[in-house]
Amino acid sequence: MKNRIWILLALIMTLAFVPLLAGEAEGKPDDDSFGLNTVYYNGKYYPTLKEALTAVYMSKPAGVAELYCKTGADVGPLTHGHVADDIIIYGNGARVSGGEYDMEIDTYMFDRNTGNQSETGSFLDKDITVKVYDLNGIAAWGQRNTNHTINLYFENCKNMNRIYFTNTANDKGRINVTLSGCSFDANQGSNANTSVYSNAPGDILISDTTFTDIAVGLNINHKSAGVQNITLENCTFTDCALSASTKTYGAPVRIVARLGATTNLTVEGAKFHYSAGNQNVGNGDVLIGDGRYDAPEKQGTVTLQMTDTEADVVVQKAMYYDEAGNVTDPQKAQTTVVSRSDMLIADTDNHFILDCHDQISLVGEKQATCIAEGYTGDRVCSVCGMVVEKGKSIPKTEHNFQNGVCTMCGMAQPSEPAAVPPRTGEGNQRTLWLALLLVSGACLAAAVLARRKGRHQA
Ligand SMILES: [Zn+2]
Ligand SMILES: [Zn+2]
Repeated sequence: MKNRIWILLALIMTLAFVPLLAGEAEGKPDDDSFGLNTVYYNGKYYPTLKEALTAVYMSKPAGVAELYCKTGADVGPLTHGHVADDIIIYGNGARVSGGEYDMEIDTYMFDRNTGNQSETGSFLDKDITVKVYDLNGIAAWGQRNTNHTINLYFENCKNMNRIYFTNTANDKGRINVTLSGCSFDANQGSNANTSVYSNAPGDILISDTTFTDIAVGLNINHKSAGVQNITLENCTFTDCALSASTKTYGAPVRIVARLGATTNLTVEGAKFHYSAGNQNVGNGDVLIGDGRYDAPEKQGTVTLQMTDTEADVVVQKAMYYDEAGNVTDPQKAQTTVVSRSDMLIADTDNHFILDCHDQISLVGEKQATCIAEGYTGDRVCSVCGMVVEKGKSIPKTEHNFQNGVCTMCGMAQPSEPAAVPPRTGEGNQRTLWLALLLVSGACLAAAVLARRKGRHQA
């Protein structure tokens, strides 16, 4: 009985958590119930996302506010939709159709009673987490004013406009950003200049996301005293950094940190594509450092760890470009051509160490003897430890008999050449089994006889 209760409990837990894990809108009302409205929140329907976000803010939610969009709906234009609470938006394939497309966070003071911007209102007053699923065209924007942490999570949002946060007024507040399965495409309404920009400390993880026709796709200009950890996994950049207007800093991936800031970038399996006739403006696929004429001479720490990625990585120092945007000092830029099989290992002093796995040491090599096989040894990269080529076993050597004894292992020389195992061996064994069978049969017979005899006597 007890077991059944546990099974039931496990079943209930599984059913309860599966929709959460899959990011599905479990509490979504039927599309028919929306009428002309497009967003549902807490028992009411709203014509636009903007109005729903105002309703969330005015409701002073204690927990996570959950918004549901009508499947595939146009949730209206959105400019600076104020967000200051934990919210989840289930987009259901709906799209933001205009304005600046953005949720505004920690930029303006708002009043929770009127839902309006107010001189006597407040900035962000707590750490918040904003999750958005399947909502196309959306953006998040802010100019930080507080120390509160902002966690942003976007999953399967297509043609997102941008994520853009500056920290000029306050450089302490962390921003953590996760993008999974999203896309940015300037041909489909995404901001053509930059897709993801942050100068705050925090962790940024972007996976399975595409960037198309963006001047500076991932644009990091770290201006705090903290650490950014940025990871790109399986992202594709197509025809990015073509724009002449961003010639002095444009790159599909651009990472700059000011003195005192640290940015660690990890790139795994990125692809940089340029369609026929296109090439980037000349700062490589990944640009580290600010080479502009007015950039600070001393800049912060940027490290790059990169695997499974073919890319030109360019490191620039200030005044590589002059004020007119022409190259003045070629010495101030260094290009490293990295093939897919190469690896860049993060290095605090020099950004990275290029490892082409060509510094080889032999590991585990062993000579064969007359009693043990040998091994040619594995060819191992002495920089990263990767096994470049597995070794092979080497067959045993012959014994070296002298005066009836092997001079190497001391084994006595067999007196005569070992014969092929005779067929008689098999026959002999059969005879032995037969004999055993006979003996045991005789014993059994004797025992039975003895018992009978005993019974008669009783
Ligand atoms: Zn290596
Ligand atoms: Zn031997």
